[in-house]
Amino acid sequence: MWIKNRPPEPVSAATFWRVAVPSPLHRYFDYLAPIGAAAAPRPGVRVRVPFGRRHVVGLLVDLATATDVPAARLRRVRDVLDGEPVVPAELLSFARWAATYYRHPPGDALTGLLPKALREGRASASSTESGWRLTPEGRVASPDPRARRQAELLQLMAAHPAGASAADLAATGEGWRAPLKRLLERDWVESVELAPAAPIRREPEPGPPLTAAQNEAVEALRAKADSFSAFLLDGVTGSGKTEVYLAAVADVLAAGKQALVLAPEIALGPQLVERFERRLGTSVSAYHSGLADGERERVWRAARDGDAGVIIGTRSAIFLPLARPGLIVCDEEHDASYKQQDGFRYSARDLAMVRAQRLDIPVILGSATPSLESLHNVNRGRYQRLRLPERTNAAAHPPFRIVDVRSQPVQGGLSARLLAAVATHLEAGGQTLLFLNRRGFAPVLRCHDCGAIAECRRCDARMTVHRRRGRLICHHCGAERPAPNQCEHCGSPELAPLGQGTERLEDTLRERFPSAGIVRIDRDSTRRKGAMENLLDDVRSGRGHILIGTQMVAKGHDFPNLTLVGIIDADQGLYGVDFRAAERMAQLIVQVSGRAGRAEKPGEVIIQTHHPEHPLLAQIAGGDYGSFAEAALSERHAAALPPFTHLALIRAEAAKPEAPQDFLDEVRAMAEQQKQGGLEILGPAPAPMLRRQGRYRFQLLLQADSRGNLQNLLAALLPEIELLKDARRVRWSIDVDPLEMF
Ligand code: ADP
Ligand code: ZN
Ligand code: ZN
Repeated sequence: MWIKNRPPEPVSAATFWRVAVPSPLHRYFDYLAPIGAAAAPRPGVRVRVPFGRRHVVGLLVDLATATDVPAARLRRVRDVLDGEPVVPAELLSFARWAATYYRHPPGDALTGLLPKALREGRASASSTESGWRLTPEGRVASPDPRARRQAELLQLMAAHPAGASAADLAATGEGWRAPLKRLLERDWVESVELAPAAPIRREPEPGPPLTAAQNEAVEALRAKADSFSAFLLDGVTGSGKTEVYLAAVADVLAAGKQALVLAPEIALGPQLVERFERRLGTSVSAYHSGLADGERERVWRAARDGDAGVIIGTRSAIFLPLARPGLIVCDEEHDASYKQQDGFRYSARDLAMVRAQRLDIPVILGSATPSLESLHNVNRGRYQRLRLPERTNAAAHPPFRIVDVRSQPVQGGLSARLLAAVATHLEAGGQTLLFLNRRGFAPVLRCHDCGAIAECRRCDARMTVHRRRGRLICHHCGAERPAPNQCEHCGSPELAPLGQGTERLEDTLRERFPSAGIVRIDRDSTRRKGAMENLLDDVRSGRGHILIGTQMVAKGHDFPNLTLVGIIDADQGLYGVDFRAAERMAQLIVQVSGRAGRAEKPGEVIIQTHHPEHPLLAQIAGGDYGSFAEAALSERHAAALPPFTHLALIRAEAAKPEAPQDFLDEVRAMAEQQKQGGLEILGPAPAPMLRRQGRYRFQLLLQADSRGNLQNLLAALLPEIELLKDARRVRWSIDVDPLEMF
């Protein structure tokens, strides 16, 4: 064996390169330095390493003096891809912390935060972007009229004499690479390096004079601008929270630092970015999953190199490198979209707190309906609460009316009371928003003759009828099939869609108010790019009189002429399986109703329910989210639920029910051995929806009285779980601080 004859390695102080490798394993991998390596690079550079039978791109995270990999199995780094770290030390260490806290495989978490090109091992550190422009031949060329896409691209490039970017080309529609290639082959087009877009610099547009409460908040922030402190900006909808953020961000820019603003998926529209640009007089970069890879990378680099002063992004923006960080804002902090629900299950809201602390900068969480977690932190003196108790326009909060729909005549889900109110507001020239958190036509299709209900073949769930598309769709796994004309069970043609969805609501309203403009906003109606903005424009312009929406309309949108809000079915949240159901429903109702009466016109909110006596509704109808939250907090305290305890959920699923059960039984037994005081283990139990996408799902809940206890248990448990034979027979995951309990 030639290995035996090899001279022994010279063992220096830092022999082993510890690398984050994209893999599902919960550890880093140690390598030997590449042959002929001079000085070891700094952590944060990318390396290409052998991994199994492949080579993969990883991130160097450490140089170690010892390894527990046996010498014979150690392999060498093949090459080093960067001279300087692509990931700054601060981000590297923060992301490592996060991967540990959320018990996610660190290689996956760390390489996952790189832009795609870097992750795939392509060149780094070029801040220019390549683009394409017309050659002299191209300028006079006349393409074959049948090559429509080529002609479109030529036209576009004619309008960009300095060069068009990939994003520009992509904006003309799908499938631009092939025609571009054709144009390059004919020498009508050549590639160029694009100059970076010139940053906007103009006079900031003045804002309204701040109210006393806004001023107080801004002053409180100024007093602690230079080090870590945590604020909860607790302001009712329309109280001017964004104005407070703008003032704080302007201060940060004036001090030569960067501000990172997190916003929920849905609220981060072009409008928010434009508002910030106008008011700050500077470029604002948006960062979200809708961006093309190249654009995402450009923002990533601009943030890292300090060229982006303000970045507004969705949850993944919490992992942006920042050259001169000065402030983190997390708007609508209660929003569930801050928690990633699969893969790396982090909470960007919670990480905002951790990162700000590590960076020693202030962090502002803002909401009209703060999460119970954040309110608890205010109560414990960890966050300073800044209140904006009133709307800026002096409009009182619209009164709530609870309508008991029991034994009432109901037309298409609408009570006579609500229909009359819609008519009254229409006549008075006001707009109506009807909120129903259920898309499609009807949630159930039942056979009148045999009673069979159309079910998903892969989930323990019913199929939703989507009449516009003529299909049955499972909202849990996405399975679809054509809507049948006959019962799938007995063949009877007497099929009845039961219950209300947004499509059906739309039909009912069109019939009842034929001359009214009706706009439906849900995931189906906004699927096409730009559709959401078009629909919102219809509402803003006044063409739409009645707006029907799911939770997509609950936040961030200002409809000045909206005077009536109807909550079609408040009961969804009252008796949910999840202990957070009530909190979510309260937040939704308050947020949705906050859309009414924003301008000078007074508003009205009507809530339909079968449980008018429910205390939750009474509290909300009292118009006081704060008192609801305090009551809910004491219930959580009594029940030893978060935020008073800390949870981790271990989920397992497989095609047969036995494997996940056996696996979790074993995990439970191991946890029992590690268990100390202050820990409870609950389960394994079937998930509330046992079968989903053809797989049986079970879960084990770990509950601890402190984060430390929970983390210790997970740290001890994880290496043992990975070794379990049964772990390979199931798909399993750990969710630390889970938001969804199934
Ligand atoms: P929030 O973020 O709390 O929902 P915004 O900051 O969007 O509230 O403000 C709501 C509306 O009130 C906006 O139209 C905004 O321009 C206006 N506004 C905010 N602050 C003031 C103020 N001090 N005086 C007058 N109007 C204001
Ligand atoms: Zn039937
Ligand atoms: Zn399904």
